[in-house]
Amino acid sequence: MVPVALFWFRRDLRLHDNAGLCAALRSGLPIVPVFIFDPKILSSLDADDRRVSFIYSALEALQEQLVAAGTTLQVLHDEPLKAFATLCGRYHVAAVYTNEDYEPYARQRDAAVAAELGRQGIAFLSFQDQVLQAPGAVQKEGGGYYQVYTPFYRRWQALLTDACLKPHPSEQLAGAFHREPVGTWPSLAQLGFRKNPVHAVSPCLPAETLLRSYHDTRNLPAIAGTTRLGVHLRFGTVSIRALARQALDTSETFLKELAWREFFMQLLAQEPRLVSESFRKEYDAIDWRQDEEAFGRWCAGTTGYPLVDAGMRELQATGFMHNRVRMVTASFLVKHLLIDWRRGEAHFARLLLDFDLSSNNGNWQWVAGCGCDAAPYFRVFNPQLQAARFDPDGAYVRQWVPEWGTSAYPNPIVDHKKAVARCVAVYKKALAREQLALFP
Ligand SMILES: Cc1cc2nc3c(=O)[nH]c(=O)nc-3n(C[C@H](O)[C@H](O)[C@H](O)COP(=O)(O)OP(=O)(O)OC[C@H]3O[C@@H](n4cnc5c(N)ncnc54)[C@H](O)[C@@H]3O)c2cc1C
Repeated sequence: MVPVALFWFRRDLRLHDNAGLCAALRSGLPIVPVFIFDPKILSSLDADDRRVSFIYSALEALQEQLVAAGTTLQVLHDEPLKAFATLCGRYHVAAVYTNEDYEPYARQRDAAVAAELGRQGIAFLSFQDQVLQAPGAVQKEGGGYYQVYTPFYRRWQALLTDACLKPHPSEQLAGAFHREPVGTWPSLAQLGFRKNPVHAVSPCLPAETLLRSYHDTRNLPAIAGTTRLGVHLRFGTVSIRALARQALDTSETFLKELAWREFFMQLLAQEPRLVSESFRKEYDAIDWRQDEEAFGRWCAGTTGYPLVDAGMRELQATGFMHNRVRMVTASFLVKHLLIDWRRGEAHFARLLLDFDLSSNNGNWQWVAGCGCDAAPYFRVFNPQLQAARFDPDGAYVRQWVPEWGTSAYPNPIVDHKKAVARCVAVYKKALAREQLALFP
């Protein structure tokens, strides 16, 4: 058997400008492309999970290009260690190339795979691809990671050199794939899933006009003023470098949003405990309400607050919710209804097409006031004022809540003033109790 190298696709489902794939294709070894459906990840998902459908379609698109290049994607459904044992039985594997993944589970998984391959004398080579600055690269002057966004952004931006923005032309090296006839894959049904009809925008770079007006329109949910590329950044169906080059030419406001993504990514990489804990531990003493009826009405979009209800229904129907509305709906759950932010985080995680652990967790903690650089707890969004400011003619609300303004629309589930007063009192009590415990 001729020696080959494997390229393991994960959050980088594209052939163009792919850093790890480019390095692999330049290695001089024929490259076998691989994707592994990991049962550990799949087992926690609904049978019609939106992202599994998205990934499956993205793999089909990848396969079309790979077949045109004379090769085929190896798709396995197994624990990664076992999948590599299978692949090492099938090929003479000299090396495994991949791109870095910074989530806590991914890091453990990669360490285990690298160790096992290392025992067999197989190199495991991992490259920076999904970010402009890898977690740990943006450090404070005296060392340590940033906990406040604005100084993080300044340093992050100063580090945006040509070297980190330049493309990796993997698409020009397609001749270096291992030549192989088309293989078969497990179907979605064999993986235990069925197709979800929710779909994403196509993975194209945004129009220049959109980015030029982004600063003025990004807060208006009724218009298509944002890129909707979150899902493509999550699964690497667009290149972050291409997007950042475009942002540098057109919109610093947009660049700053890309930096928020990396801010939360470095935060979770530094503090894996945030998966279940508040960044500010004292906020875990809050006496959250267990109110199933209120939680159900928030999920269903029947709270009687039109902007909240429109957002929750948009999420359910499309797998997307506008950022401004994510802030309002999240704040409403945590502050008006006093329900634990982790329940809202889990609901978003189940339905968002662009769900990304670090961004979802970081933003929920930001809204709840318990995150680093978070809004102070006593500043509570007023959903009615937010609607008047960002959806002044009600176009967004009417799109998702057609019965708004009729007798069929429910009365508000809570009174705004009373809910804010309750929220501030409960937060205050928890924080005072914690302070007393710390400094009796
Ligand atoms: C409660 C809550 C939960 C969220 N959950 C997620 C999530 O699971 N996944 C996710 O990608 N974003 C999340 N966000 C951030 C933001 O709402 C989405 O990134 C954005 O709405 C996606 O739409 P877009 O692609 O049109 O964004 P654009 O406005 O076009 O922005 C471009 C990209 O910048 C990044 N970005 C923009 N805003 C933020 C932000 N506040 N934090 C981190 N990255 C940002 C995203 O990658 C986004 O795709 C959440 C925000 C809130 C308030």
